[in-house]
Amino acid sequence: MNFHVLTLFPEMITEGLNHSITGRALKNEQITLEAVDIRAYSNNRSAHVDDYPYGGGAGMVMQAEPIYLAYEDMVKRIGKSPRVIYVTPQGAVFNQTMAEELAREEDLIFLCGHYEGVDERVLEDIVTDHISIGDYVLTGGELPAMVMIDAISRLVPGVLNNRESAEFDSFYDNLLEYPQYTRPVEFRGKPVPDILLSGHHANIDRWRREQSLKRTLERRPDLLKDASLSREDLRYLKTLGYEPEER
Ligand code: SAM
Repeated sequence: MNFHVLTLFPEMITEGLNHSITGRALKNEQITLEAVDIRAYSNNRSAHVDDYPYGGGAGMVMQAEPIYLAYEDMVKRIGKSPRVIYVTPQGAVFNQTMAEELAREEDLIFLCGHYEGVDERVLEDIVTDHISIGDYVLTGGELPAMVMIDAISRLVPGVLNNRESAEFDSFYDNLLEYPQYTRPVEFRGKPVPDILLSGHHANIDRWRREQSLKRTLERRPDLLKDASLSREDLRYLKTLGYEPEER
């Protein structure tokens, strides 16, 4: 997977992702990352890439031309036109299913806005996907791009090792993950649930599944309608008062 980012703050992206699991994936060349400074494509001497909004109003708007030139150059280098994600609070809200779908691409371009946003005309020309990371407004698109790159990277085959597997993470199967415990066996009077010390794998699996169902019902009941639930799962959820919606 090759990530390409158009940004006014390239170091924020490269430094931010060069740690922990994404850092290891970059080192092992399981993913690649380039962050291109849009300012380098400015056509004026002071390297301005923003201007006042037509029609008046607060703030500045990123100009179309430098972004378009940076994009054109990037596409030439890549040798094809990958999907271009504009990270914006106006987009569809990012989730695990979207991460899984995007992880199947070979190359992805992210466009990070700043100030009041980006001249609509360049967005119309190059953007294929508008994606938000949540219903709040940040100062720039760098953190959203990093959030998405992190979530997508860990789904690229080989990036997580077996011990870090994404298979039972929250949202896998539309359920939240069961609670986790590690040593010591007792922490401030609170013991680890006995079942986890039993060595009985089938019982542990069932306990974890039930915890997962219980937690999802308590914290994110909205997820359950799209989860694949067995009869046994439904029976258990019913004991907790869950009534599946009629479809
Ligand atoms: N005026 C814009 C609006 O109301 O839609 C918000 C601009 S915001 C201050 C600057 C940039 O931050 C945006 O262009 C976008 O790239 C990024 N951004 C801010 N919040 C975001 C979010 N929730 N998800 C994704 N990107 C976001």
